[in-house]
Amino acid sequence: MSRTAIVLGAGMVGVSCALSLQKRGFAVTLIDRREPGSETSYGNAGVISRASILPLNNPSLWKSLAAYLRNDHPAIRYRWGHLFKNPGWILRFLAEARPSRLQHRIAALDSLTSLALPLHRALMDEAGVRHRLRETGSLKVWRSEAGPEKAQAEKLWFEDHGVRCEVYDRQGLSALEPDLNPIFSAGLLQMDSGSVDWPQAIVQAYAALFASRGGRVVTAAIEDLSKTADGWSVRTDGGEKRADIAVIALGPWSAEILKPLGLAVPLNVERGYHRHYHAQAGRKLSRPFLDVEAAYMLAPMEKGFRLTSGVELAHRDAPDDHAQIDEALPRAKEAFALTQPAETTTWRGSRPTLPDSLPMIGEAPQNPGLWLAFGNQHIGFSTGPVTGEILAALVAGETPVADPTPFAPERYL
Ligand SMILES: Cc1cc2nc3c(=O)[nH]c(=O)nc-3n(C[C@H](O)[C@H](O)[C@H](O)COP(=O)(O)OP(=O)(O)OC[C@H]3O[C@@H](n4cnc5c(N)ncnc54)[C@H](O)[C@@H]3O)c2cc1C
Repeated sequence: MSRTAIVLGAGMVGVSCALSLQKRGFAVTLIDRREPGSETSYGNAGVISRASILPLNNPSLWKSLAAYLRNDHPAIRYRWGHLFKNPGWILRFLAEARPSRLQHRIAALDSLTSLALPLHRALMDEAGVRHRLRETGSLKVWRSEAGPEKAQAEKLWFEDHGVRCEVYDRQGLSALEPDLNPIFSAGLLQMDSGSVDWPQAIVQAYAALFASRGGRVVTAAIEDLSKTADGWSVRTDGGEKRADIAVIALGPWSAEILKPLGLAVPLNVERGYHRHYHAQAGRKLSRPFLDVEAAYMLAPMEKGFRLTSGVELAHRDAPDDHAQIDEALPRAKEAFALTQPAETTTWRGSRPTLPDSLPMIGEAPQNPGLWLAFGNQHIGFSTGPVTGEILAALVAGETPVADPTPFAPERYL
């Protein structure tokens, strides 16, 4: 009889874990209260990033703190109440920005992002959604006169770290993205990144692949998790499910379910918003771009152009504050001919982040059979499949595709 597994959460990370465990012979049940890919894995910018190897809390954060103090910066907004309620997380997050804490985290993120596109490509082939993948890279653009110098410096830094980039001047950018308005002094094309035209469609195709191979997808709200004599039991509003092992892949909801087990995970969230817009007839983008100084991304999607905001440090469930995305819209219109909203709602999501900006992948200490896969911060859409592969290899006692040491739960538990 095959061993059994329950994966809690059907975002990109959970679906990927389910597929990777299934590949290793597990009979897997995947549980989510919503359709697969309906939360954080729905609303992201769809970039499959090779280049996101520098954590947000790197030494330059200290230099930027003064600029963030007025709390009007497009890249980071915060609610004072949230910071005061989470001093421990904030201090640990800032402490990780020390130079001595940088190199091993870059190496760890590199080990994930270097496999992101290859693993997605293979899964998309199997799931029949390869047509949704654009292998046209991801673009960063600068407005200021310092842009060319910054782009060149970043290119050199990335090349030192094995990430291929190309610098574009104003004319070069016009040739690369003809419909981008010529307001940018320089651009950096991160060539080994890709992007998709509807992130949820990818998660759902992976979930359908999992189901087509005999996996069970259950729609139910998870209420509780407990140890049994020979495995784990998950109580849901649709009844109890039992299995030999349980995998927590609940993204920004992962910490709550672990608390009653005495596992206090320092998980916080970096919230973000998106809206979809139409553009003037015939205007196109071949890839998402990040407007560095205005701190928004604009990504071409199936249902319009998706404008995503920077980071908001607030409680996961606190009411929306649209100031950041409202301010991003006119800046995005300076760059590209956006017109009417394609929908009336503003989406909000929460990037799940641990203080060192690395995910937690591995078995929970003192809890055999309880596996953790969350905390993929800004790159969980990209790194879901590699997270799943590392986790399933550890479960099966194989050597994982990347060194799991930096992601070990023991660093916090
Ligand atoms: C604005 C924005 C832009 C981003 N852009 C990118 C990008 O371009 N590229 C990239 O790689 N990443 C990006 N990210 C980050 C990425 O979206 C996340 O890291 C990733 O989606 C996390 O996936 P996950 O599976 O861990 O979490 P989720 O996708 O949130 O999945 C968790 C699941 O758990 C379920 N769940 C929670 N509680 C319960 C319960 N009690 N019962 C049942 N089910 C439950 C939820 O319904 C959900 O489906 C972005 C994020 C944001 C917010």
